[in-house]
Amino acid sequence: MEDRRGMSGGQMAAGGGIIGVIILLINMFTGGDAGGILNGIQEQLPGSDAPTEQRELTAQEKEMGEFVATVLADTEDVWKKVFQENGLNYEEPKLVLFTDGVQTGCGGASSAAGPFYCPVDRKVYMDLAFFNELQSRFGAKGGDFAIAYVIAHEVGHHVQNLLGTSDKVRQAQQQTDEAGANRLSVALELQADFYAGLWAHYNQEMNDVLEEGDIEEALSAASAVGDDAIQKRTQGRVVPDGFTHGTSEQRVYWFKKGYSGGNISQGNTFDELR
Ligand SMILES: [Zn+2]
Repeated sequence: MEDRRGMSGGQMAAGGGIIGVIILLINMFTGGDAGGILNGIQEQLPGSDAPTEQRELTAQEKEMGEFVATVLADTEDVWKKVFQENGLNYEEPKLVLFTDGVQTGCGGASSAAGPFYCPVDRKVYMDLAFFNELQSRFGAKGGDFAIAYVIAHEVGHHVQNLLGTSDKVRQAQQQTDEAGANRLSVALELQADFYAGLWAHYNQEMNDVLEEGDIEEALSAASAVGDDAIQKRTQGRVVPDGFTHGTSEQRVYWFKKGYSGGNISQGNTFDELR
């Protein structure tokens, strides 16, 4: 894990930059804030990522950092095992914690983008402030396991990257219209939710760590970030053609399917949604 919290100057360089191109390369956790995301992503400018100031992290920030590192380590244990079972070798992703803005292999991003995975540098990026938002803006229950679910979802995108799924989807998206591309995006996102559920299943089997209410926290977070829930809140209506991440019901369904089945071969969201 890389902890870039408390650094200033790691933030996005202000002004200028080509907007939008990079958005295709990274997988956002939510699909409902495209305006904010586009504004938040700019071309990387050279030399802008040198830290200039460092402040001491608070005790609570340190504790959160340790929790995130533990969850990431748990995803490594699980995916190593699942890959081994399938005769494959799991290469671990890195996770970067940041505040406000960050430079990535996919360009610069602000916290407005929400947590995301960049396939170019194989890193998951998170500003932990998102989790306050998950409760206050999205209406999720919150809790530790909501954070674990989000990390597991982003690691799910890393798994898709390793398995070649993301590349195939990107190619297919270029050969279809916008509604078709969105449908493919939904299948990709729901599979990441399925992988998050699968992780929870294996993690429980291997480490016996689940506490009362943990799964509900994950399901509440999954439900809160459904496209329909976000569209209703931000636009006052639901436009299924514009879905990029799936409905609340679908996100919950696929997480649960991964969690209860514990079988990676049940995660073909692409066929089931066709
Ligand atoms: Zn995602």
